[in-house]
Amino acid sequence: MPGTELFGAEERKEVNDVMETGVFFRYNHDNIRNGIWKAKTFEQEFAKFHGVKHCHMTTSGTTADVLALTAAGIGAGDEVIVPPFTFIAPVEAVISIGAIPVFAEIDETLCISPEGFKAAITPNTKAIVLVHMCGSMAKLDEIIAICQEHNIVLIEDTAQAMGGSYKGKMLGTYGKTACFSFDFFKIITAGEGGAVITNDDAVYENCHTYSDHGHSHIGNNRGMEAHPVLGMNLRISELHAAVGLAQFRKIDYILETQRKNKKVLKDYMKKFSQIEFRNIPDEKGDSATMLNIFLPTQTEAEKVAKEMAAAGIPAAYWFTNNYHYFRNWEHIKEMKTVAPVGVQKFGSPQNYATIKFPKSDEVVGRLISIIIQLKWTDDDMKKICDSFDKILG
Ligand SMILES: *Cc1c(COP(=O)(O)O)cnc(C)c1O
Repeated sequence: MPGTELFGAEERKEVNDVMETGVFFRYNHDNIRNGIWKAKTFEQEFAKFHGVKHCHMTTSGTTADVLALTAAGIGAGDEVIVPPFTFIAPVEAVISIGAIPVFAEIDETLCISPEGFKAAITPNTKAIVLVHMCGSMAKLDEIIAICQEHNIVLIEDTAQAMGGSYKGKMLGTYGKTACFSFDFFKIITAGEGGAVITNDDAVYENCHTYSDHGHSHIGNNRGMEAHPVLGMNLRISELHAAVGLAQFRKIDYILETQRKNKKVLKDYMKKFSQIEFRNIPDEKGDSATMLNIFLPTQTEAEKVAKEMAAAGIPAAYWFTNNYHYFRNWEHIKEMKTVAPVGVQKFGSPQNYATIKFPKSDEVVGRLISIIIQLKWTDDDMKKICDSFDKILG
C-alpha cells in the first residue's frame, strides 16, 4: 500500500492551499482562487512524467476506464477484449458504456497473452483493454502487432503498474489512451481519483469535454460556454487533486524503494527450486509493487498463501478472491444488472455462464502475489525471509 504509507505534511499543505481559497472546483473562479490549480497542475506533472502531450484527471480509476474507452470512440455495441484476471473495473466500464466484454486468456505474464488475444477476435472487435496486472507489463510488441493487423484500438489500463515501462518507454504511452487509478490501495492515492493520458489532440478534446458535460472550456464565463458534444460529470475535485499531487511528487522515491525491497525478497527466494517467477517481458520496467510467484500446483499455492498470511506477510491469493478473477464473478456469469445493459440487447459472442479459461485457471490457481511495502526495515525483510525458509524450505 505504498502511497498511504507515506501520507504526511506534504498532502496536508496541498489540501490547505485549497481550503484557504475555498475553491474546490477545478475550473474558473480565477479572481478568488489565488493562482491555485491543483487538478491542472497534477495533470501537467503527470503528463510530463509519462512524456505524453495530454492528461485528464477523473473521479476514479473506474471513470478513467470509462473515459479512456469513450474518448477513443468506443461505445454501444462495440466488442472490447478484456482479461478474466483483473480488478473488475475495466469490465464494468465496458458494460456501462453499452459495449460488449469479450474475455481473452492470460498467460504467465498475468496479462492477456498474444494467443488469448487472437482467439477472442471477431469481425466486431473494436478495442482491447490491456491491463498491466500486478505491477508489470504484457507482451506489448506482440499485442501491438495484433492490434495493427486487425485495426483494433489499444487501451492500456495502467492502474496497477504506474511508473513501469517497456523497452524504455512508460507503460500507458503505447495505447491510444491509458487509464490510471488513485484509489486508496494504489501506488499513489488521492483518496479517490483517476487519470487518462493520450498523445492524440482530438482524443484529449473528447476527454475534457466529455468529463464535464460537454463544456468547451473556452472563455471565462462558464454559463456561456459552448457544448460541442454531450457529456457526463467525471470531474475530479480540487481537494482530491491536491492529495494526489502531493502523493505523485513522491513517485520516484516510491518506485526506487519498491524496487530495492522487491529485489531483496526475490533474490532470497531464488533458492527455492519449486518456485517460479511471473514472466516479466522487460524486467527493468517492473514497477515492483508486487512479487508474483507460482507454486507447482493450485493446492500448494493455496496452502502456502495461507501460511504466508499467518506469518504476517502481505500475500494475496487471487484464485478464490471475489474481485480479481472471473471464476467468482457470479454477477457477470448471470449478467445480473440493476437496469438493462447493452450486452443484453446486442448479445455477446461468448456465453459468460459456461465459458472456461483453462490457461488462466492454471496460471491464477498457482499464483501468489506478495505486496511490497515501503516501510519494511532490513530487519522486517530478514524476518520475512526466515518465514520463507519455514514455509518453503
Ligand atoms: C483499481 C483498479 C481500477 C479502478 O480503480 P478505482 O479508482 O478503484 O475505480 C481499474 N483497473 C485496475 C486494473 C485496477 O486495479
